[in-house]
Amino acid sequence: MSKYFISTAIPYVNSDPHIGFALELIQADVLARYQRLLEKEVFFVTGTDENALKNVQSAEKAGIEVNKFVFQNAEKFRKLAEVLNISNNNFIRTTEERHIKGAQKFWKACKPEDIYKKSYKGLYCVGCEEFKTHKDLIEGMCPEHRVKPEEVEEENYFFKLSKYEKELFRLIESDELKITPSSRKNEILEFIRGGLEDFSISRSRERAKNWGISVPEDDSQIMYVWFDALTNYMNALGYAEDDVRFNEYWQNGRVTHLVGKGITRFHAIYWPAMLLSAELALPKEIFVHGYVTVDGDKISKSIGNVVDPFNVVEKYGVDIVRYFLLREIPSGEDGDFSYKKLEDRYNGDLANGLGNLVQRTVTLIDNNLDGELIYKPDLIESEVKNKIDELFKEYVGNLDNFLLHEALGRSWDLVGYANKYIDDEKPWVVAKGDAQDFLNIMNNTVFILYNIAWMLVPFIPETADKIFTTLGANRDVETLENYKFKVQKTSGLFPRLK
Ligand SMILES: [Zn+2]
Repeated sequence: MSKYFISTAIPYVNSDPHIGFALELIQADVLARYQRLLEKEVFFVTGTDENALKNVQSAEKAGIEVNKFVFQNAEKFRKLAEVLNISNNNFIRTTEERHIKGAQKFWKACKPEDIYKKSYKGLYCVGCEEFKTHKDLIEGMCPEHRVKPEEVEEENYFFKLSKYEKELFRLIESDELKITPSSRKNEILEFIRGGLEDFSISRSRERAKNWGISVPEDDSQIMYVWFDALTNYMNALGYAEDDVRFNEYWQNGRVTHLVGKGITRFHAIYWPAMLLSAELALPKEIFVHGYVTVDGDKISKSIGNVVDPFNVVEKYGVDIVRYFLLREIPSGEDGDFSYKKLEDRYNGDLANGLGNLVQRTVTLIDNNLDGELIYKPDLIESEVKNKIDELFKEYVGNLDNFLLHEALGRSWDLVGYANKYIDDEKPWVVAKGDAQDFLNIMNNTVFILYNIAWMLVPFIPETADKIFTTLGANRDVETLENYKFKVQKTSGLFPRLK
């Protein structure tokens, strides 16, 4: 069985998780659950990046010991994954022993000639944890953080990125390392065309404030946070311990990274170059998502529009939040969050669309067939079957191309189709007449709904489970022929919002 590895990026723990990271977790979760539906063995990892200088600064500001600070905040991210019903197999913190060992093993695995010492003077943005060149800055400030970077001068280790320029270009252009969407791929190719410079991969222990992972055999230097952080993906698989899982998933499986657009460069340029140097397998694909705005504005503490994902889930329920973010925000692009739009989606798509469909199906079977329907595949109309096949095909194509909002849209096309089918066939009228006609309609209705439930498994798994349960459907049956659906009365999947 082929193995599939997927990761989210690991966020810095200097502040609370925001809605944008919730989106990333949920999108990665859809891909993981989808691959499991395809019967792939999936390893899905998320975690936290704890060795950054900005974590130290935030801890100092909060007046808490750095260790304690990162632990407390890491727990919030772990909790967020739980609250969002994320199916990750592993959660890695970069202060864990397995990560520290892995990062050091990786450093030593890079070709010795690719790592060299040099004295360097540069402009460092702590917010980005990155050296900036003058062309990166706008009016002397980091455009992302709107602060002047610090001037830093010291002797560091450098990684020979320039050496890999041609090879990286070839890998990305040919899609051997596939970057989706293509606009991001083109940006990266453009960046490589501009020439790649070697980058600093360590800092003095002093500037790192004695926080981070030591460079092997040189205790005076701490690894650059990105250099250690990127290895987390492999370390979660047990790279340091020579775990068989590492070979199965990383070296011989299909590796997918999901990242936000702000850190594409690290994943699409630095990371593959580092892996080439260490002669390890490269990721197969990098999916890049956009940023979430709130009511049309960039999320910022100063505007006061920060949306706490925990609050939204508590107020509306996890699947509503999942549904909204997955449907409303086009994968790969920026999108907007607003309570108004969320409630509109809830009332329209969920309560009136899907909820109503489930409710009326169950009620019809309950009232007219004592709650039991024996499924006969011969009764499925060819038009119904064709419609399902057509939408499933598009759904799969969309998921394979990281168009999650489109795939979810196709599921809702089927919801709309089912509701229209019932409206047109008027089973509540037919029920009073010919018994076989009624059975025909209900067989088709249940068949459509059963397929909808499957389509929803990766997106809103709790709701999909509820539909299966309500229909009395067994997900593991080999064939539906003569299967007895025993419906359960429901008070409604999506009660009206107060
Ligand atoms: Zn910055």
